[in-house]
Amino acid sequence: MEIYKFGGASIVDAEGIKNITKIISNNLDGKKIIVVSALGKTTNALEDVVNNYVSKDEKYLNYIREIREYHLMVSEQLFPENHNIKFKIFAIFDNVESFCASNTSTLYGYIYDQIISVGELASTTIVSEYLKQEGIKNVLLDARQIIRTDNHYTDAKINWEKTKNLIENNDLITNNQTIITQGFIGATSEKFTTTLGREGSDFTGAIFANILNADKLTIWKDVKGVYNSDPNNYTEAIFIKKMSYREATEMTYYGAKVIHPKTIRPLQNKNITLEVRSYKTPEENGTLIKNSNEVIEYPPIIVYKENQVLLSFSSKDFSFTEAENLRIILKSFDNNRLKINTIQTGAITLSVVVNNKPEKIDAIKDELSKNFEIRFNNNLSLITIRHFDFYTEDTFLRNKNVLLEQRTRETLQVLIRD
Ligand code: ADP
Ligand code: ASP
Ligand code: MG
Repeated sequence: MEIYKFGGASIVDAEGIKNITKIISNNLDGKKIIVVSALGKTTNALEDVVNNYVSKDEKYLNYIREIREYHLMVSEQLFPENHNIKFKIFAIFDNVESFCASNTSTLYGYIYDQIISVGELASTTIVSEYLKQEGIKNVLLDARQIIRTDNHYTDAKINWEKTKNLIENNDLITNNQTIITQGFIGATSEKFTTTLGREGSDFTGAIFANILNADKLTIWKDVKGVYNSDPNNYTEAIFIKKMSYREATEMTYYGAKVIHPKTIRPLQNKNITLEVRSYKTPEENGTLIKNSNEVIEYPPIIVYKENQVLLSFSSKDFSFTEAENLRIILKSFDNNRLKINTIQTGAITLSVVVNNKPEKIDAIKDELSKNFEIRFNNNLSLITIRHFDFYTEDTFLRNKNVLLEQRTRETLQVLIRD
């Protein structure tokens, strides 16, 4: 069994949907679960809806309708005039409008997830119907019926046991049909929609792969595979044919956007191969990430993480080295689910580098400002170079204004001002 995942870039328009249909129909052998994310940049557009809605700006309604129009326009190019897809799309977006009209909750994350998930619900409806029209039998499975999570909205944690149970007992899945389902979304036990964190569809693919003991997860991207740096920013990027799980984990942990960081572990645990390949050149092989005894020589791997914030904590009584202080600070990051990208301790300060998530940072500051002096620096970038050498270090770091540096045998990390 194989799992496919198609991201937003692959289905930005009708041509994209036709293209992935061709890819699917050329690879119909073996049972497939096909995980699909929202069309193009729909999720970003839906974030504007959420932000306008929570700040009580009526513009949110126009934004919903613009997004609906986009889906209708794509559908017009795929289906005949009398096809019922239009009604389906209207119904999906009507649901969002009625949620907004009747909602009484003020919980941002909850509102966000109920609205934002419509992107995946709409895209999968179109893809599933189009595949049917092209003679590819499939069923559309609502991921919220099987992906069970906690209620940490916007960044929900998978309840593996319940999800496993639901997937293993789902008739559609056990009946050996080709399944189209949404990436990125799940639901709490009370059936409220949750999301798994931005770009989380890769992770959904890995959840299915793990639970169903798939042979392989293939994620179809706009790039040929994994390179030693972002090929869209660096023309000399080197294509990497094979990678170990370890290397892939490292590079995605440090922020290489090509694979969602949570994707690797569930695959590694079951020894499932991950292939990253291009929907633009589907005849070419991509990057294979798997277990192997072979020693792979990697080129220097460069990862850029922009929009970083440096938070420095010093205890008010200058007693920093005490483990208790570290525990209190790290606990606060954990409570607020703010992932630490780099951490460094000094005699009286602890420096922490995180993504710029203002609400989470404010919550942490509120929790800790009683006991600690907190300094804050933003507009920073974290550059990580794995397997660094003199030439790469010189090329990427020359004349940079460095705020923090960390070096191990394999990894160099430097925080710079943009
Ligand atoms: P999806 O369509 O699944 O959402 P993404 O846009 O999240 O795909 O990921 C693909 C993008 O990742 C590429 O367009 C590329 O710009 C970026 N990228 C960043 N680092 C790398 C890398 N090391 N190798 C390949 N692509 C990379
Ligand atoms: N549509 C979601 C996002 O843009 C999930 C994904 O594409 O992986 O974050
Ligand atoms: Mg993405």
